[in-house]
Amino acid sequence: MSFDRIAGRFALGALLALPTLAWAQAPAPIKGAVPRELPVKYTGKPTTPAISAADLMTRLYIYADDSLMGRQVGTENNLKATAYIEREVRRLGLVPAGDNGGYFQNIPLFTNYTDTAATRLKTGDQPLAYGTDYFPIPRAGRTINFDGLPVIYGGIAGDSASWPSADAVAGKVVLLTLPASANPFRGVVYSATSRFGKAAAILVTNLDRIPAAVLPQIERSTALREDDAPSAAPTSILVTPRIATLLFGATDTLKAGAAGKSLSGTIALKEERAPGRNVVAILPGSDPALKGQYVAIGAHNDHVGYNHHPVDHDSLRAFMAIARPQGADSPTPASVTPDQIARIRALTDSLHKLHGVRMDSIYNGADDDGSGTVSVLEIAEAFANAKVRPKRSLLFVWHTGEEAGLYGSEYYTDHPTVPRDSIVAQLNMDMVGRDDCNNLEGDYTNTVFLVGDDRISTDLHNLIIGTNQMLAKPLTLDYEMNDPADPESVYTRSDHYSYASKGIPIAFFTTGLHPDYHRVSDTVDKILFPKMARIAQLGYQTGFSIANTDKVLERDNKGPRAGFGSPMEPLKK
Ligand SMILES: [Zn+2]
Repeated sequence: MSFDRIAGRFALGALLALPTLAWAQAPAPIKGAVPRELPVKYTGKPTTPAISAADLMTRLYIYADDSLMGRQVGTENNLKATAYIEREVRRLGLVPAGDNGGYFQNIPLFTNYTDTAATRLKTGDQPLAYGTDYFPIPRAGRTINFDGLPVIYGGIAGDSASWPSADAVAGKVVLLTLPASANPFRGVVYSATSRFGKAAAILVTNLDRIPAAVLPQIERSTALREDDAPSAAPTSILVTPRIATLLFGATDTLKAGAAGKSLSGTIALKEERAPGRNVVAILPGSDPALKGQYVAIGAHNDHVGYNHHPVDHDSLRAFMAIARPQGADSPTPASVTPDQIARIRALTDSLHKLHGVRMDSIYNGADDDGSGTVSVLEIAEAFANAKVRPKRSLLFVWHTGEEAGLYGSEYYTDHPTVPRDSIVAQLNMDMVGRDDCNNLEGDYTNTVFLVGDDRISTDLHNLIIGTNQMLAKPLTLDYEMNDPADPESVYTRSDHYSYASKGIPIAFFTTGLHPDYHRVSDTVDKILFPKMARIAQLGYQTGFSIANTDKVLERDNKGPRAGFGSPMEPLKK
């Protein structure tokens, strides 16, 4: 699951990694915080046609292994990960549906970075320090020469009423100040960019409020764009309030449009092509009249890579479990109580006793989205070996770049390799391997969250409920995260959203956020394989039901509905 779609769009995913949500949940004792008996390393037996916990283990210990280094899009490690998926679908005999008769669909990605050796900035005689005084956000390859460019005061970041007109700033450098009360991360740069599209560059005074550890992740990021369409948006540069003072003197009484001292020097931004690919495979349907229609089932093949700041794996895990139960999605707490510290220490000690101290810097993404990736492989293996094939075809897509901003699914739905109209539904599996939200409240050991299945097609919602009830042990379907008021907004945060944006009925299966979300501690030893197997079986049966039903799912577009009871009853249309 990605942090934030807008964040990804503007290559600010890492910058926005600290969310704005209020610290609402009191930390509760965490069931399952001490790992169960699963090993850290394991080599399983070859997989079998049936969807099983053993097969999922075999696959996920490969897919979430350290050797894949966090599978980040734009890197060789993502190519290694997708090579595993490709080998599997080829072995299963699925029909390739990527580029040029193969299983891969390459997507146009570019890595953006600052050429720090060629970047220099000063005002008057005073040199400014890259990273300390100013920090450009690279989003396109370009060199900005500041010599002779007027610098003007644009007003308060986030307060568009205080800003000058778009024409007044054309070709100039604009400086926006950030009030202390404003969140330094969310929306500031983006909202400024939309007004100041004609400016040469936009300076925002928030650099001193961005944690230093976050900067390397912004310094080098990957963007999706068509080959022939470089970004024309002005470059945003984070600066400290000290720079504002150097340029303008005191800023509190300044009027927007006031001229400041000039800057000189250049900022050199580079852009280079980066690798990234979806894996696309088809299982043809059995009915000549219906095989031209597709039920899409997908997951995301990427995660967030690794860094150069190793941490004590268990100490981090204990801290997150006690103080940030939704992982990276929980805000950093302003303070930690003595009681929490005692619990964090005790948990860390007990984990160290189990296997010693392990330093870790790899984001394995066992749950996110190793779990969905291997579940969809298991579903594909079951379909490929099924005695009875459904009437419609199955379209399996393992999307890349989800974490960077739903890149792979956006590209696939813009450039589908089957007619877009022929995709009758998309089922997305992202983070399906854990106890829902780590059992913060209630018992979720039999539960899967379903998101979005009622919004475009009531038929799809009712079909999933009916299919679940036919399982030997039905799962509890939880629609809490489907509520449009859900603060996590997960409806927009994974690949199904790209399909839904094209009007295709979708269902998102997830077991929700947890303390290891987007942390190096999202490792395979914490996955609940028997439960995950049952979720994959529900995915398989749902896919089969949609592919085999006589009628097409009606798209009645009733939107999200709240207040579902349990057990689930079908919705009225
Ligand atoms: Zn994620």
